[in-house]
Amino acid sequence: MGAKIIDGKEIATRIKSSLKSDIQRLAPIRGFIPKLAVILVGDDPASSIYVKNKEKACKEIGMGSQVIRLDSNVTQDLLLSEIHRLNNDKDTHGILVQLPLPKHIDESVVINAIDPKKDVDGFQPINMGKLFVGEKGFQPCTPKGIIALIKETGEDIMGKHAVIMGRSNIVGKPVSIMLLNENATVTICHSKTQNLKELARSADILIIAMGRPETIDEEYIKTGAIVIDVGTTRVDGKLKGDVVFERACHKAGWITPVPGGVGPMTITMLLKNTMQAAYHNE
Ligand code: NAP
Repeated sequence: MGAKIIDGKEIATRIKSSLKSDIQRLAPIRGFIPKLAVILVGDDPASSIYVKNKEKACKEIGMGSQVIRLDSNVTQDLLLSEIHRLNNDKDTHGILVQLPLPKHIDESVVINAIDPKKDVDGFQPINMGKLFVGEKGFQPCTPKGIIALIKETGEDIMGKHAVIMGRSNIVGKPVSIMLLNENATVTICHSKTQNLKELARSADILIIAMGRPETIDEEYIKTGAIVIDVGTTRVDGKLKGDVVFERACHKAGWITPVPGGVGPMTITMLLKNTMQAAYHNE
């Protein structure tokens, strides 16, 4: 059996084009364009690339963006005062602090300082709490993108068994709650889980977010399952997912590639959240 590919790049392009039209339509009525502010601390090369890509994506759809670059020695107090300034700036609708932060800064204090109404990354505990109780708020971008990809298959989520490998705060935990909110029956696995293969093989929807390149093959996959590979690890300069793609394709019904699967959806959901912050947050 040959799995159908869930083309994240194509889906992301389609969503971005619709967001661009929305801005063109709404900006004249509302009198402003949405704006995202990104704070980058230090000069980590990977973080710099992520921030550049975010800037580029904003530009592509006609959204405003501002990157605030701070020295790696910046004090926590100065970083917090920058966040307070952006919280009070009426022209800034979304605020994102690029992670990781240098060791002398407490990430949770910084994330907590972001106004929940501008927390377009969805990591602020108020938004996490809203997700938990099923209230409207900002949902973290990668999990939100994963749900959008699953829905693109046209298959029902309700009543399906979803198995998630990974329990991080940015992927595994929030995507599990989102699938539960969609009425899936959810199993969360982690490094201490026993019989991982058996659990995975019972999944109608299998989400792998471990950061262990090419470890999941067809033996972990139920025939016809939807397989979402979140993993991205650079191996010899090449981006690798957690799934052995060619082998998984023999069993899966649907599968995301790496690159070109979950990755492009993450930034797209950030743009979507910033639109929500600007135009639908009253
Ligand atoms: P993380 O914080 O390192 O979490 C990894 C999770 O996998 C942990 O819960 C860990 O269990 C679990 N795990 C590790 N080895 C395992 C094993 N052998 N069996 C079962 N579970 C195992 O990673 P993350 O931040 O969630 O990211 C996961 C992957 O997704 C990474 O490759 C990352 O680069 C990628 N990612 C991609 C995007 C994107 O936009 N494409 C966005 C975010 C992340 P414990 O909790 O027990 O340690």
